[in-house]
Amino acid sequence: MSKPKSFFVQIYGCQANKSDAERLSAMYLDNGFVEAADWQNCDELILVTCSVRKRAEDRVRAFLHKIMNYFQEEEKTPPKVVFSGCMLHHGVARLRKMLPMVDEFMPTNKMAFAKRAARKDKNHAFVPISTGCNSFCTFCIVPFARGREASRPFQDIVDEVAELAKDGYTEITLIGQNVNSWGLEKMGISARKMMLRGDVKREDLPSNQSQYLNVEGIPPFVKLLQAISRFEGIQKIRFLSSNPWDFSDELIAEIARNLKIDRFIHLPVQSGSNSVLHRMNRGYTREDYLRVVRKLRAQVKDVVLGTDLIVGFPGETDEEFEETVALAREADWHVGFVNIYSPRPGTLAEKLYPDDIPHTVKKARWDILDQVINKDHLGERPKVV
Ligand code: SF4
Repeated sequence: MSKPKSFFVQIYGCQANKSDAERLSAMYLDNGFVEAADWQNCDELILVTCSVRKRAEDRVRAFLHKIMNYFQEEEKTPPKVVFSGCMLHHGVARLRKMLPMVDEFMPTNKMAFAKRAARKDKNHAFVPISTGCNSFCTFCIVPFARGREASRPFQDIVDEVAELAKDGYTEITLIGQNVNSWGLEKMGISARKMMLRGDVKREDLPSNQSQYLNVEGIPPFVKLLQAISRFEGIQKIRFLSSNPWDFSDELIAEIARNLKIDRFIHLPVQSGSNSVLHRMNRGYTREDYLRVVRKLRAQVKDVVLGTDLIVGFPGETDEEFEETVALAREADWHVGFVNIYSPRPGTLAEKLYPDDIPHTVKKARWDILDQVINKDHLGERPKVV
C-alpha cells in the first residue's frame, strides 16, 4: 500500500483564521491525508494568510521565500503550496505574479462553514457563526478579503454545538467579524446603527429582517445564545467580535441572566474621538459607545470589558488622542489590543488619507494606552481566548 500524502497548515492572524485552518485540516484528513509534524516534511503546504497590517503580509512573503530557499539548498522537491486567507484580496492574477511559487489559490469563504473541524484542543472549541462584513470601516481589509457578511444557518450551528457537547467539550467561543449581528445581514446596518440612539426601535423595523429566526421581541443572536445554552455539558460561552451597533438591550439582559456567558466582554471601539471615528467610518460616537458600557455595568455583575484600539490613525491630533485616553479611564477596559496604525494595502484609508503621524508619536501613544489599560490592570485580567 502506498504511503498516504501529508499536509501542513501554516496559520497567520486571528481566531477566524484558526477556525478556517481547523476546517481545512478536516477536509484534508477526510481526503486521506495525514498531518505532517512540520513544513519541511509535507506533500502539501497550506498557508492561511493575514492582511491586517502590511507587516503581516510581509511575514507571509518572507516565509514563502524561506521555504523555497530551504528546498533548493536541500535539493529536495518542494511541497505543493496552497494559498488561502485574507491576502486573496489582492486577486489571484496579481498574486500569481507576486508569488510564482504558489501552486493553488483557495478562497477563505469556501471553508468558513465546512461541517467538520479537526481540533487539537479537546475542551474548548471555536464555532464560526458568520463570516465577512458589510461595514467598510476605512482601516479594515475584511470586507475586501472575506466579502459580504454571511450568517451560518441556525441548525448547522446548533448541530455542531450538540456534537461538541456529546464529545465532552465544555467551552465554546462563537466567532464572526460581527458576531452579535448574526442573522441580520440582509437588513443592512444603517437602521440598526440608528437604534443605538433610540431614534429607531426594534418594532419600527420590518419583521422579516433575519433569514433564520423571527426577530419579534428578541434579536436573532440572543435566540442563538439561548439555544446553545440549553446543552448541559456546555458550561462557558464566549463570543468574538461584537460591534456596538448590535449590542442590544436584549443581549445585555441575556448576559446578565445567563451565567454560562463569560463575564469578559470584548467590545472594539477603535478610538475615543468622534472625529476619528467618523474618518474610520465606524458609524457611532463615543457617547453611543459609553451608553452601551453603562448599561452593561449597571446590569451585568462583575463584567470585565476589553477593546481594540488604533493609535496614530491619519490626522489623529494630540487632542483627539487625549479623548481616547479619557475614554479608556471612563470605560475602564481591563484588556486592550492596541494597534499602531499602518496603511493596509487595499483599504479605503490607504486610498483616502496620508499616513501622516510619525512613528515616534504613534509609539508614544501606544505606550500610554498600554499603561492605562493593560499594565494598570495586571492581575485583574480575565482569561482571553
Ligand atoms: S473592523 Fe469594521 S470593516 Fe472590519 S470586520 Fe470589523 S466591522 Fe467589518
